[in-house]
Amino acid sequence: MVAIAKPCLGVEEKEAVTQVIDSGMIASGAVVEEFNHKFSEYIGVKHGIATSNGTTALEVALKALGIGPGDKVLTTPFSFIASTNSILYAGAIPLFADIDPKTFNIAPDKMEDKLKKYRDIKALQIVHLFGQACDMDAIMTLVKKYGLLLIEDCAQAHGALFGNKKVGTFGDAAAFSFYPTKNMTTGEGGMVVTNNDNAAERSSLLINHGMKIRYHHDIIGYNYRMTNVAASIGLCQLKKLDGFNKRRNQNAEYYNKNINNQYVQVPYKQGNVYHCYHQYTILVKDGRRDDFTKYLSANNVGSSVFYPLSIPEQKCYEGMDIERDFPVTDKVKLEVVSIPVHPLLSQDELSTVAGVINAYK
Ligand SMILES: *Cc1c(COP(=O)(O)O)cnc(C)c1O
Repeated sequence: MVAIAKPCLGVEEKEAVTQVIDSGMIASGAVVEEFNHKFSEYIGVKHGIATSNGTTALEVALKALGIGPGDKVLTTPFSFIASTNSILYAGAIPLFADIDPKTFNIAPDKMEDKLKKYRDIKALQIVHLFGQACDMDAIMTLVKKYGLLLIEDCAQAHGALFGNKKVGTFGDAAAFSFYPTKNMTTGEGGMVVTNNDNAAERSSLLINHGMKIRYHHDIIGYNYRMTNVAASIGLCQLKKLDGFNKRRNQNAEYYNKNINNQYVQVPYKQGNVYHCYHQYTILVKDGRRDDFTKYLSANNVGSSVFYPLSIPEQKCYEGMDIERDFPVTDKVKLEVVSIPVHPLLSQDELSTVAGVINAYK
């Protein structure tokens, strides 16, 4: 089976974890501090605050910017559920704008429709889906025109660029995830990044029970800390990230050139981005998607549907007073399928995947 995802861990990570274990300091400490510093420096922002996972990073980013009960946050209906759940954890109200049918990212014109309809929207929470940056020119224009806060969900876009600027540097804050399937991993883990000193200070408090001085709790916080064990893996992975993303791009390039089937459309890439191909997501036409994924599986090619349902139609939101009608998302969700693009794919595996897809009838 050609796996859809594989964490790329080597002797460096093993050695780093062993060192942390030998140090006796396995919970949050100096290694986390170093990871905060190195990762935020890599992204090009002033502060990094490591967290227990990407979901808590999103929640902390929102709360650190002062988003709370009653605040409206505009987001995408086509993402992992955490993009919206984090808004609910902050006590805020999620609103949705439909996506662009080509990039699958939130569509600026649909966002503006919502901004005109709900004049009290306070923030945008955008997602750079599958490793491709949102249309940041249009989004920054909206941010300025409507005086909005911007939070970037970069859980799938470590190292992705819009123009020559990394995602995670556009917003008031951004959140990354280091889950094993992402472009780099710490096992479980996340990071809030921000240039805002106050939001950074609040993030540090929120993830550590509101403590600056031991057992003095200034605000009601949480235990959302990352461990030194996880951070030591993150430091190794960060060194390899650009290489990983390069391999993902080479793999995508191979598929772009070699996949040729009348039912299959390869991913669209905007001209002014560096895509980091968290996923290589094709569209399968004529209502054949589910038949196609069964075929892949029967031929030992792993695949996954991200995402089979829009967020607003998830069962857990049943009975919530939210909009559920997003025609573009509702079409795309029936056609998408992601195929293996991870850095460990061999040339043999790449040609097997393309060959199997091309033979689909
Ligand atoms: C993975 C992911 C998250 C959540 O990250 P976890 O580390 O799994 O909590 C949030 N948003 C998006 C778009 C993701 O892909």
